[in-house]
Amino acid sequence: MLQNKIAIVTGGSRGIGKAIVLELASMGADVAFNYLKSKDAAEAVKQEVESMGRKALIFKADVKRLVDVKKMIENIKEELGGLDIVVNNAGIIRDKALILMEEQDWEDVILTNLSGAFNVVRTAITGFMKQKHGNIINITSVAGVKGASRQVNYSASKAGIIGLTKALAKEVGSYNIRVNAIAPGYVDTDMMKGLKDLHRDELIKRIPLKRFGTAKEVARLTAFLASNRSRYITGQVILIDGGLAM
Ligand code: NAP
Repeated sequence: MLQNKIAIVTGGSRGIGKAIVLELASMGADVAFNYLKSKDAAEAVKQEVESMGRKALIFKADVKRLVDVKKMIENIKEELGGLDIVVNNAGIIRDKALILMEEQDWEDVILTNLSGAFNVVRTAITGFMKQKHGNIINITSVAGVKGASRQVNYSASKAGIIGLTKALAKEVGSYNIRVNAIAPGYVDTDMMKGLKDLHRDELIKRIPLKRFGTAKEVARLTAFLASNRSRYITGQVILIDGGLAM
């Protein structure tokens, strides 16, 4: 489905990003990805991609820093020969009630989740427009659609991603560039590890399918949006949440 396509996935060392890297590679893509701290984990993902017979490139690059992102994308084009698919996945949480939220908690989350995605699309878009094709998939969240308590910073960043997705889809559709967002509900990754068992059980009661999602399930949806099978879909926010947001 993605034979000889070249993709970048931000935050590919762990969790959903790692699953996306592996899924895209299993569909035939060469994949570049970055990480912030988890060097060993990133090396292990790279080896898994290579064991599938695909090329992998890894970068220690902070999505908050436009210079890092520019260097990374230049490098990908030189080493892999182009760029077709962008997956903006890197994200963080700093959950707190607003009354306790520090300016730093707000800034870290907005700069990573929202400005990070801007930095990547801003850098990739010129090449996509010149080549007259490109595919951008942004990982948002149910929190960005519905809002989540103790997540004013995170919900705002993820709602911002939805605005970015829709605006950009309108702006560049005529260049054969598609832009979509995926909004997961609760997915079992390190991000969810802080949850106490009791809280987790309470959350599960609210999910019609009565379980958290898996990173692989999100990765499969990403691969569908990255492929030609979804070629008439753009500007959409697709929820993958076991029915949570209904
Ligand atoms: P995770 O397990 O905490 O992994 C986060 C990934 O992002 C890691 O690879 C991390 O790199 C990378 N990262 C963080 N800050 C970065 C930065 N400044 N520059 C580059 N890379 C950075 O999180 P996850 O659960 O897989 O979440 C992935 C995405 O899905 C996020 O956007 C999240 O908001 C969204 N999401 C998650 C859930 C959920 O329930 N898990 C639900 C809805 C949406 P290091 O390994 O180096 O730290």
